[in-house]
Amino acid sequence: MKTEPEGAARLLNAVAFAAHKHRDQRRKGEDKSPYVNHPIEVAELLAGTGGVGEMNVLMAAVLHDTIEDTDTTLKELEAAFGSEVRALVEEVTDDKSLPKDVRKRLQIEHAARLSDAAKLIKLADKIANVRDMTDHPPSGWPLQRRLEYLDWAERVMAGCRGVNGALEKLFDAVLKRARETDLS
Ligand code: ZN
Repeated sequence: MKTEPEGAARLLNAVAFAAHKHRDQRRKGEDKSPYVNHPIEVAELLAGTGGVGEMNVLMAAVLHDTIEDTDTTLKELEAAFGSEVRALVEEVTDDKSLPKDVRKRLQIEHAARLSDAAKLIKLADKIANVRDMTDHPPSGWPLQRRLEYLDWAERVMAGCRGVNGALEKLFDAVLKRARETDLS
């Protein structure tokens, strides 16, 4: 009897899927690193710093930008990784039909209503993004825009607190360093 792949095999499957889907994309930062480094970092933060061992959460972290930034469909995610992973990715995906400023406002408003698992992914995502902003600032972002981004990230994170002390502490430290670096 053929058994379903489990554990490490499922996770690596998700990594391979994300790497393929993001294969032509680069991060916004000056170093132009491959896009897939970002979702891998988000999953690594959850497992390493956050001590999160739940496979569906780690898989959803690896896949969290596939709907927003690639041609991947929710159906495709469900067929490959199951309904729980699909639902989690859907929860952390913005509605791209809305203008950017509306999407940013909705992220603040929706944060507190997310499931705990989705909050974990958001926390790790924002840690990775704020860290990138400091270490590899996007070319052409003036100081004001970077500071506004940090204020916004802090407001989204306000709704995601109470699920993982270690990740929340790291977010605070990364945010503080980002502001100090920008203002020094
Ligand atoms: Zn992300």
